[in-house]
Amino acid sequence: MTMPVIELCGVSRRYDDGPPALHEVSLTVWPGEAVALLGPSGSGKSTLLNLVAGLDRPDAGTVTVDGVRVDKLGEAGSAVYRRSKIGMVFQFFNLLDDLTVTDNVVLPARLAGMARREADRRAAELLELLAIDRHARTHPGRLSGGERQRVAVARALMNRPALLLADEPTGALDTAAGQDVSRLLRGLNAEGQTIVVVTHDLALARSCTHRTVRIADGRIVADGRSVEDARSQAALAPEPAAWQAVTPVNVTSANVASEDVR
Ligand code: ADP
Repeated sequence: MTMPVIELCGVSRRYDDGPPALHEVSLTVWPGEAVALLGPSGSGKSTLLNLVAGLDRPDAGTVTVDGVRVDKLGEAGSAVYRRSKIGMVFQFFNLLDDLTVTDNVVLPARLAGMARREADRRAAELLELLAIDRHARTHPGRLSGGERQRVAVARALMNRPALLLADEPTGALDTAAGQDVSRLLRGLNAEGQTIVVVTHDLALARSCTHRTVRIADGRIVADGRSVEDARSQAALAPEPAAWQAVTPVNVTSANVASEDVR
């Protein structure tokens, strides 16, 4: 029987006395899916990502990733979980500039105890796969944004994660570099990599995912096969006034690629 990669059941999280950042959220992501998580600023996307990454704990509900009850892990267990089960890609790459590209990429494997030679071999394979191998000995500071993001993706894949989590991976890139990263993610998904990408970039959501989950006011308001599908579901959802206020009334193919959902 296939096991979900992510299974959130009735997950709630509230900070201090504020309104719930997440309210009884349930979500299942299956192996091989590529899911875009969309929603206005403050809707709970980072909170959800942090819970899936084991960086935070829910107040209620369960978080299971690739069979691991992430909400039950302590600090040490959650660090091991992050290293072994998930790869993370961030808007600003989070690479170490005083290390070479190769040394950045091997880092997660070295932390996981892989021998240097084996880690170097895998890093070389990944850098070649991601067409960044000619920069193996360069320092990331000398690379373009798109190249840095390729390195960050290579690093994220180093430990063969069950789940690749990308948080605004094109947010700091120009259009061409963003399309390049988008193609890269699509290619990885075509090879079977499960991906969840949090983004405001609808072009990215359209081109490299086949499922769009919209979140507003800490609840999932739509879950569709395309951006449009999820958009029309969201418009019908009764609760999220904040979301409806920012949903464009007329969406044309001309403006949709650059539209920001905030
Ligand atoms: P998004 O990623 O969609 O912008 P967040 O998950 O960051 O949304 O935030 C959801 C809600 O939780 C917001 O109201 C935000 O102000 C609140 N929030 C997020 N992190 C914290 C925190 N560390 N302390 C207090 N409130 C927080």
